[in-house]
Amino acid sequence: MTPVTEAESGSGVTKGTLLVVSGPSGVGKSSVVRALDERMQFHFSASWTTRSRRPGEVDGVDYVFVERDEFEKSIAAGEFLEWAEYSGYLYGTPRKQVLSHIDSGENVLLDIENDGAGQVKLSYPESVLVFILPPSLAELERRLRHRGDTSESDIKKRLSVAGSQIEEAHAKFDYLVTNSEVGSVADEIVSILAAADSP
Ligand code: 5GP
Repeated sequence: MTPVTEAESGSGVTKGTLLVVSGPSGVGKSSVVRALDERMQFHFSASWTTRSRRPGEVDGVDYVFVERDEFEKSIAAGEFLEWAEYSGYLYGTPRKQVLSHIDSGENVLLDIENDGAGQVKLSYPESVLVFILPPSLAELERRLRHRGDTSESDIKKRLSVAGSQIEEAHAKFDYLVTNSEVGSVADEIVSILAAADSP
């Protein structure tokens, strides 16, 4: 990807990159995101969600927690770059916030599910979409069981969702990387971004 130049942006600043990271539940996305944060500077966009706050989560940092009617008003007003329903809750990325950070030259990282990633690509084609694959479905199942916080029926549901996510990922994402080891995946994504930024 060629960086958008001063002349193209008209703002005197080279735009940052919008990186979208997705992957099935249990693939280790959060660890990869943490490892990426140690290697590069990103602005993390806090999504809006209608799900309740979990212990330890901070409103405005992990998510902006809102009621469904407020979320729906923002959808109607076109305030989301993308939004999706996941497990019965709404999740969305505020458009203005993300684009203003990119315009000011910062890289922005979105950790979102597949449908949202596709919408980001449509609205912002310069975005870089990376899908994290498990080494195998058997390994994904082992990781989900190892977490110990997921019921048997949920494990089955997540594995079935993972199967279809992986199938569609080949068409939807720019890059697919396999999470065999967190540090190597993070290094691989850094290389992808460096290559994407070279003219
Ligand atoms: P959780 O509720 O476990 O934090 O997140 C559930 C799923 O929602 C994860 O796959 C996460 O990546 C995704 N997600 C979080 N924020 C957003 C968002 O703004 N938009 C979309 N489309 N998905 C999101």
